[in-house]
Amino acid sequence: MTLGVQTHEAKREGTGAIEWDAIVIGAGVSGLYQLYRLRELGMKTLVLEKGARVGGTWYWNRYPGARFDSESWTYIYSFSKEVLDEWTWTEHFASQPETERYLNFVADKFDFRRNIEFNSEVVAAHYDEGSRSWNLSLSDGREYRTRFLVTAIGILSEATLPSIKGVETFRGASFHTARWPEEGVDLRGKRVAVIGTGSTGVQVVQEVSKVAGQLTVFQRTANWAAPLHNSKITPEEMQRIRADYPDILARCRETPQCFVHAPDSRSALEVTDQEREAFFEQRYSEPGFGIWYGNFRDILVDREANRLISDFVARKIRERVKDPAIADKLIPKDHGFGTRRLPLETKYFEAFNQPNVELVDVKETPIEEITETGIRTTAGEYELDAIIYATGFNAIIGAFEAIDIRGVGGKSLKEEWSSGPHTFLGFLVAGFPNMLMVMGPHGGLGNFTRFAEFNANWVTELLGYARARGVTRVETTPEAQEEWYHHVIESAAGLLSNEVDSWMTGINKNVEGRSVRRPYRYGGGFPGFKRYCDQVVENGYAGVVFD
Ligand code: NAP
Repeated sequence: MTLGVQTHEAKREGTGAIEWDAIVIGAGVSGLYQLYRLRELGMKTLVLEKGARVGGTWYWNRYPGARFDSESWTYIYSFSKEVLDEWTWTEHFASQPETERYLNFVADKFDFRRNIEFNSEVVAAHYDEGSRSWNLSLSDGREYRTRFLVTAIGILSEATLPSIKGVETFRGASFHTARWPEEGVDLRGKRVAVIGTGSTGVQVVQEVSKVAGQLTVFQRTANWAAPLHNSKITPEEMQRIRADYPDILARCRETPQCFVHAPDSRSALEVTDQEREAFFEQRYSEPGFGIWYGNFRDILVDREANRLISDFVARKIRERVKDPAIADKLIPKDHGFGTRRLPLETKYFEAFNQPNVELVDVKETPIEEITETGIRTTAGEYELDAIIYATGFNAIIGAFEAIDIRGVGGKSLKEEWSSGPHTFLGFLVAGFPNMLMVMGPHGGLGNFTRFAEFNANWVTELLGYARARGVTRVETTPEAQEEWYHHVIESAAGLLSNEVDSWMTGINKNVEGRSVRRPYRYGGGFPGFKRYCDQVVENGYAGVVFD
């Protein structure tokens, strides 16, 4: 199987008139809101979307079990009171179909589709200094010219298949979770393999284990996971949530990751054993990321505090998995709790008690080859009807690398970032004028919609400022970029997550060049990020040159 990755050439210099004030790439959560704001600014805006409909992540990731693990009522757009009043969430952690419906509801309401061209894959974007514009080429040969280019291409959108021999040869059905067929796949009674046990793999396993005849889970690195505790939202509860939206949103703005969960002010080391145990128990029994982001303040920075929560969750896994040898394999040994992105699960661990589910530790028995009929490990061959690749993404910069982006003098962004990204606040890159990124590398990261709204607002205000002054060229300076880079590195200091391989530290063993651990996001939290961004604006966009 392939993900259809191709290379394309684009014309470096456009010839026609500049047709668009702004082209936004991507009609996902951030692209849709960016369109709303740019339209409001009176800019002639076009959105180019690779998919056939709106939704981005929530359009592509339609695998069995896909759902939010942020509270639905915090992952909302906050810009429209009408949307807040009219939309009803049915579950605290909505499933993918509901979220996709939500994004379509918003798109209908604001008639977004009139500004979007679907099935439009941008393969190259070249800056032309002469005309101060960007020339875009699409995979089908179409070309566009725009003054400003805004990328809203997501952080987890470039799906990666495993670099295992024979991926192309399997004759059964095989799918990457982020390219799941719209018509669905009937896995009832089938012999199914899942490769990958990140947040996606966990959701797939717990769902497919209910229907597959035999499910074999190929795990390379065990991941910590904790219960989601999802439940339905009653009409009365939804009414209360609606009334509380201002408070909920205000709370999200105050927490580091923009969730409703804020760290407890105590250290895990300053309370008694009984108090600590009771607190961990309470967090483990509550919905959402409280166990991760609402825990003692030091579990993600202090080794001993982290060991205590890791031991607690390991005990829970042992209680939930009947076979101690399987439980042992499911307990991570090479990283502490919460130092990678925490999957939230619903009876994931119990799935391994079922007779139709087998766990294969590929560190013990590595996969040698995917054959025409299954998967061969060093221990033997697994005959299969279907293989599900829950093998993740070329995260954060992958979607940029997939487009041949060239700035002043034909400088390639991919080459520029070959030793890791450098940006100004995740919004701008020196040498790439008039390109703005929504949720770019080294920006803040957490509850996606909360951060995306902030990002799109910042981009809009900058473009509004430029427009009001008749500016046709906007670029950051190398000095401002380096200052931000150093701030990003300083803010990451001490976080245990930076000592661990994960997409958050830029590691993807299936992609060449993604083997050095680096911070790929700003680790200082939303309030700090907002403060820095606000200051830049207050100081007349210090670090940005308008011409
Ligand atoms: P991921 O966290 O990167 O996990 C990929 C998995 O595939 C890992 O277990 C990895 O093992 C394994 N893998 C990759 N290549 C392999 C190979 N060649 N052989 C064996 N195993 C291989 O990707 P993801 O699970 O798709 O999640 C990515 C992110 O998407 C999450 O962290 C989260 O932010 C987001 N997400 C969100 C939700 C939600 O609820 N909202 C749901 C799903 C995902 P190693 O760990 O050993 O590399």
